[in-house]
Amino acid sequence: MTTREESIDGPDVGELTPPNRTLMGPGPSDVHPRVLRAMSTPLVGHLDPSFVEIMDEVQELLRYTFRTDNRWTIPVSGTGSAAMEAAIGNVVEPGDTMLVPTNGYFGGRMASMARRAGGEVVEVDAPWGEPLAVDDVADALAEYDPDVFGFVHAETSTGVRQPEVPALTAAAHDHDALVIADAVTSIGGVELRVDEWGVDVAYAGPQKCLSCPPGASPLTLSDEAMDKVLARAKEPRSWYLDLGLLEGYWGDERAYHHTAPITNVYAIREALRLVAEEGIEERWARHERLAGALKAGVEAMGLEMNAADEYWLPSLNAVRVPEGIDDGEVCSTLLERYDLEIASGLGDLDGEIFRIGCMGHSARPENVIYAVTALGDVLEQLGADVDPGAGVTATRRALS
Ligand SMILES: *Cc1c(COP(=O)(O)O)cnc(C)c1O
Repeated sequence: MTTREESIDGPDVGELTPPNRTLMGPGPSDVHPRVLRAMSTPLVGHLDPSFVEIMDEVQELLRYTFRTDNRWTIPVSGTGSAAMEAAIGNVVEPGDTMLVPTNGYFGGRMASMARRAGGEVVEVDAPWGEPLAVDDVADALAEYDPDVFGFVHAETSTGVRQPEVPALTAAAHDHDALVIADAVTSIGGVELRVDEWGVDVAYAGPQKCLSCPPGASPLTLSDEAMDKVLARAKEPRSWYLDLGLLEGYWGDERAYHHTAPITNVYAIREALRLVAEEGIEERWARHERLAGALKAGVEAMGLEMNAADEYWLPSLNAVRVPEGIDDGEVCSTLLERYDLEIASGLGDLDGEIFRIGCMGHSARPENVIYAVTALGDVLEQLGADVDPGAGVTATRRALS
């Protein structure tokens, strides 16, 4: 029991001093100083006229970045998974069938979300580390006649970029299926054209190639997809992510639904402004150029990329772990000795690959040279058969 004389001491927690990492993993990526500055500006209310203007600007910038004219283009409060669940949880109705891929971790997450939405899940197969084949998708569409087809444009678990997207969407539309694309690791880093490619719904994340802290996640839906959402017989199971309700806030009405994460909206506004200043196509080209230099370096030192060149994903480079090397030890040594974050593989590729991100503000020459140098050094010290010097030389040449 406390008396008046006794004080209740708070826990003795020191000042916040996170280590200064270089983030070259599967996300988050390094955040641009301008975005960090935007996050330290004062709050306004989520219905303040000045904030309503900011919302309009964010929506306009998101349309530019997605390459879409979709009216229904918003930042969802939460991480990429929130935008993912908003997409799947609203578009998939109880009893609907959704076709999902098996070629990576995030196709599996799509399946879980579709099931929770009351959907029936069917699969189109491809091994982890390979893209979907158009013929296999067409066969699965013919066999199952799904209402919705989901695919992962940039599989962060395998470093695979799904090519031939227009052929996939055309096949789905031949069977009257709506297409949901996971663009979390492609938006702002890899060519993505929502309207031109016939993607009905795309969701993304801020902390990968947009180099923005997680918290407000891009989502866009075509009128046709939104018509299905608004015509649902039953309301979606999530109140928080109900797009019909969110429309009241992000649409013309601008009425309270939940308090927008103001600071995260400031952040994504600044991150998207950086995209617009650079130009979306130049940004895609920069990622390809910088990741190309990274790839040249790891290959020249004697390592192998996991994905073939035709579907290499510049924003996430999957590199084979050399014989006899413990991937976890490499990652932890890089973190300790170089303050450099990369990641190991998961699922079917657990222990087989390193995942080296080259995303947004992390996709800079100094980071790429640093990562190739540090990786070569640590691998050599752990006894791998690599030539670190050749790696650095190849990266320098590719950058010059
Ligand atoms: C990171 C990621 C997600 C999930 O995003 P979170 O921000 O972690 O919730 C979904 N899909 C892909 C392809 C991702 O890389």
